[in-house]
Order: sequence, then C-alpha cells, then structure tokens
Amino acid sequence: MAVCLLITTGVPMLSVQPKGKQKGCAGCNRKIKDRYLLKALDKYWHEDCLKCACCDCRLGEVGSTLYTKANLILCRRDYLRLFGTTGNCAACSKLIPAFEMVMRARDNVYHLDCFACQLCNQRFCVGDKFFLKNNMILCQMDYEEGQLNGSFDTQVQ
Ligand SMILES: [Zn+2]
Ligand SMILES: [Zn+2]
Ligand SMILES: [Zn+2]
Ligand SMILES: [Zn+2]
Repeated sequence: MAVCLLITTGVPMLSVQPKGKQKGCAGCNRKIKDRYLLKALDKYWHEDCLKCACCDCRLGEVGSTLYTKANLILCRRDYLRLFGTTGNCAACSKLIPAFEMVMRARDNVYHLDCFACQLCNQRFCVGDKFFLKNNMILCQMDYEEGQLNGSFDTQVQ
C-alpha cells in the first residue's frame, strides 16, 4: 500500500463572492443571496450557517479553519476537548496529540518519526510503497526478501 499522511489540522474556510449560479447552503438548504458566502469542505454555506455543532459559535468569525470528525463540524476548542488525542502510535505506543501530523497504515497511526521500515529503518515519503506484515512496517526490499526467504507466513493480505 502507499503511504498516506493524515493531517489532523483544520479544514480551511474561504470567504468568497458568489459568481454564476446561486449556490445552495449546505446548512439550511436555502439559496445563498448574500454578498459573501463561505466555502468549506467543498460545500457552500451562509456565514450564519457554518456553526460549531457543540457551542454554536459562528465558525466564520472564530478563525479561518474548522475541524471535522465523525460528521461533526467543530471549532478548534471543542475539537480539542472532544478529540484531544489522535491515538497511540503503533510503533512506540506513546500518545499522539491532536494536531500533530501522523502517518496512517490500515487502522494504525504512527508519529512521523516512528514511521520507518522496522528492519532497515528506511523512511518513507508520501506515495512511497510500504508493506505491513505481522503488524511490522517494511520497505519493499525487505518485504520481498522476506517473501523469498519464506520468513513470513505466506498468507496474502
Ligand atoms: Zn444557510
Ligand atoms: Zn465550538
Ligand atoms: Zn511513535
Ligand atoms: Zn527496509
């Protein structure tokens, strides 16, 4: 599989002037006739409709980013309160704080620094190929070598 970088920082919001066809608001489903509208998550919103699901604050005023998780749109404060950590690093088992960039492989998350081939310590870049074998991160070379030597079980994933 290919390396993918999971960024737990916020989603940018843009204040744009509508052009062309009137856009529908993703919050209230009505047409947006205002001079400015907010664009976030590939949708358009009234400035009043893009609100934090927890505290109801208008996200367009709080800052220029919003945070989403589990279909909730949240302000930074509530996001931190609810999802203060990303999880435990599968390599070093230490907690990964929210807003830190992590590498993700299947259901595992890793610190950027911990994400390396566990045999030769090669680091990966986004898009590089890596292999997960018995929950070990492997580079292509070590994976193929292991396959040849039969040191892994032959079960294909
Ligand atoms: Zn609306
Ligand atoms: Zn909030
Ligand atoms: Zn780690
Ligand atoms: Zn390796």
